[in-house]
Amino acid sequence: MSVIEARNRFGGRILTAGNNGADCDLGPSWFWPGQPLVAGLLEHFRIPHYAQFADGDILLQRADGKIERSSSPSPMTGSRRIQGGINQLVDAIAAQIDNSHCFLDHMAIALSLDGDAIIVDANAPSGRTLMRAQHVALAIPPRLAAELQYTPELPLEVMRVLAETPTWMAGHAKFFAVYDQPFWRENGLCGTALSQAGPLAEIHDASPGAENSFSLFGFSGLDSQSRETMGQAEFIRHATMQLATLFGDQANSPQAVYFQDWSSERFTASVADRRPPTRHPQYGLDLRMDSGWDGKLSFISSETSFRNGGLIEGALESGLGFAGRMTGSGAGAH
Ligand SMILES: Cc1cc2nc3c(=O)[nH]c(=O)nc-3n(C[C@H](O)[C@H](O)[C@H](O)COP(=O)(O)OP(=O)(O)OC[C@H]3O[C@@H](n4cnc5c(N)ncnc54)[C@H](O)[C@@H]3O)c2cc1C
Repeated sequence: MSVIEARNRFGGRILTAGNNGADCDLGPSWFWPGQPLVAGLLEHFRIPHYAQFADGDILLQRADGKIERSSSPSPMTGSRRIQGGINQLVDAIAAQIDNSHCFLDHMAIALSLDGDAIIVDANAPSGRTLMRAQHVALAIPPRLAAELQYTPELPLEVMRVLAETPTWMAGHAKFFAVYDQPFWRENGLCGTALSQAGPLAEIHDASPGAENSFSLFGFSGLDSQSRETMGQAEFIRHATMQLATLFGDQANSPQAVYFQDWSSERFTASVADRRPPTRHPQYGLDLRMDSGWDGKLSFISSETSFRNGGLIEGALESGLGFAGRMTGSGAGAH
């Protein structure tokens, strides 16, 4: 088995940044009880996890800026975070793969059938590279899969479904501010704030469980176009001011800030993903491939999973389903 990856790192939408124990998950932050594959992998690799901090009141910021305090539970109560950041899981899995079979910085651009095999055409630092495979599992978002060239062409209906399947969270951006004190907790706040004023729409405590590092993070409430117009430096300035308005002056002096706009990541978001769906779509792809591709080409990104499509658990379900089909074990079929 070989892995072809367009970026110069593994993980895709999973990305942990920060130093001195800050561990800011710029992509996914959480998994939830009832997700046995994530839980099983963490147990297998002995990676500890902890409950999302949710003790204390939440804040509601109305469009006119007025702030209300509420004892309602944080919507993220019960979710879990991974000690050291979710990259721990990526690193543990990557360490299992023989380096000579990992091709980072290789962007697949075309697939063609050649008898019983598929030729994968990729752009690599050394130039164009052709690889031959008996099976190809495209673990890339369906909309990006629709942008590859296929010879012979895939059925029109397959291309339509791929192109119309939104990439979960691809239009979003996350902002982190790291502090040496959890001053919001000291004021009886859990760190959750829901805002109609912005620029952050949903804020949570993202402290990594270290003694000297605490953080707040927020999802942008501005759409991709508005973020682009505003520019990253201005966004960070406004987001920091918003945290100070909500949680007090101490929020004005973070030790570090991190910002990640997924809508401008070409190996995550297509142009259509810049307008994200307003709710979690009903995911799951059942593609009738017919022609010569049948059985040789699979689509296994998280969005193809019927149960937990869009989530890390869904990516594991789809990957395990593919592995089961290849080995004939039927394990984890989705
Ligand atoms: C901001 C944000 C918050 C999220 N929050 C959560 C959360 O809290 N919990 C949760 O469970 N999920 C969350 N998610 C979703 C979760 O990150 C995804 O479901 C999961 O990571 C998808 O994994 P995947 O392997 O299917 O796809 P990806 O992670 O997108 O991986 C696809 C890979 O394919 C590569 N690639 C793309 N094009 C090519 C090409 N042409 N050639 C070669 N390689 C290519 C990419 O570089 C990437 O590494 C969040 C996502 C984001 C962005």
